[in-house]
Amino acid sequence: MPNRGIQAIRGMNDILPEQIYLWEFFEQVVRDWMAAYGYRNIRMPIVEQTDLFVRSIGAVTDIVEKEMYTFLDHLNGDSLTLRPEGTASCVRAVLEHNLLYAGPQRLYYSGPMFRHERPQKGRYRQFHQVGVEALGYVGPDIDAELIVMCAELWKRLRISGVRLEIGTLGSAESRAVHRARLIGYLERHLGRLDDDASRRLHSNPLRILDSKNAEMREIIDGAPRLMDDLDEDSLAHFEKLQEILRSQGTDFEINPRLVRGLDYYNRTVFEWITDKLGAQGTICAGGRYDGLVEQIGGKAAPACGFALGVERVLALMAENASEVTRPVPDVYVIHQGDAADGLAWKTARHLRDEGFKAILHCGEGSFKAQMKKADASGARFAIIIGDDEAAADEISIKPLREAAEQVRVGLAEAADLLKRT
Ligand code: ATP
Ligand code: MG
Repeated sequence: MPNRGIQAIRGMNDILPEQIYLWEFFEQVVRDWMAAYGYRNIRMPIVEQTDLFVRSIGAVTDIVEKEMYTFLDHLNGDSLTLRPEGTASCVRAVLEHNLLYAGPQRLYYSGPMFRHERPQKGRYRQFHQVGVEALGYVGPDIDAELIVMCAELWKRLRISGVRLEIGTLGSAESRAVHRARLIGYLERHLGRLDDDASRRLHSNPLRILDSKNAEMREIIDGAPRLMDDLDEDSLAHFEKLQEILRSQGTDFEINPRLVRGLDYYNRTVFEWITDKLGAQGTICAGGRYDGLVEQIGGKAAPACGFALGVERVLALMAENASEVTRPVPDVYVIHQGDAADGLAWKTARHLRDEGFKAILHCGEGSFKAQMKKADASGARFAIIIGDDEAAADEISIKPLREAAEQVRVGLAEAADLLKRT
């Protein structure tokens, strides 16, 4: 039986060769950008112990309550989870390998993340993030660096129309003060809370402010603001961050309502948002998470980071019509006849050794049919090898993209000739 009818899992996309150019362009820009700022790549497994995410992201969050792909490893009974994000894994890896022993670490990773959400434009069940983490830095200079770096990335990707919102969640102590005030306020509006909010009222009231339910908008808008309960140090941290951003010419708006969907954040939080992608407009989000390292079992260390949603950034690049040139072969080698075949293989191999991209025609086909393939490949030149060429141990080079004469040369001269034209 052929596997007719088997399809990819909903919300998990194939990335086809036609789309790869944009991905590869993006990935190359990211590599260069990270190198320019001294961030080093780290690669973690895609599957982790479930507990890692529950402990770090927080039990009472959308991700942990509803979105995680968790399963039992039937071979040993472990509860495992496909990573819904990278920060927890990254911190786990840093601790496991004692990287902070050598000093603060600037790191980045990229790859697929998994969340069981309702698939729609810009929201998938397997999606990709580039995550950037700076561990062991107290900030706010590093917070500013991370934010300014994003602005630089948008420039390198030729993306426009993204705005920056920043906020602060203060310290654990100031959040405790705020929490009490918030619960008091929400209790006065009990009847108007939706199911999620009622359930989280005492377990995670701050999370209620992150609700996407439009009917909760009014309640949320009227709620006490964390900004007003800030401790002095957090306020100073936030002021200094703004000062650096201004000095670097990075525009921002302060959003006192900025709450992130994960529990581990404190102090600085930020989002890069565009209006060009509809409802899924946040392309990049992050902040400081000073408590996480200790929470995962390490010696306390401050940290700050962000993740950007690759699919959303690519969609924005397409929206901005940033043209990415499709890589084309230099030559397409056309050949016919037993004598020609050997020379064709030799030619393709020689030209590749010389640094050219060469496609060797495979399969049957008249010269005319092969020439059509050569044209469709986008190659700049067709190399034609028939009986005549084979007998003379020469090849014919035909320019496909400009009106120039076909020439016949020995293989030894071919590379030079191709380089010159
Ligand atoms: P949202 O509010 O859109 O659900 P989030 O707060 O859950 O986002 P983060 O956990 O901060 O998202 O992840 C960082 C970025 O990863 C997001 O800003 C977004 O660009 C991207 N992202 C998150 N979830 C998805 C998804 N299901 N599909 C595609 N991209 C996503
Ligand atoms: Mg989400």
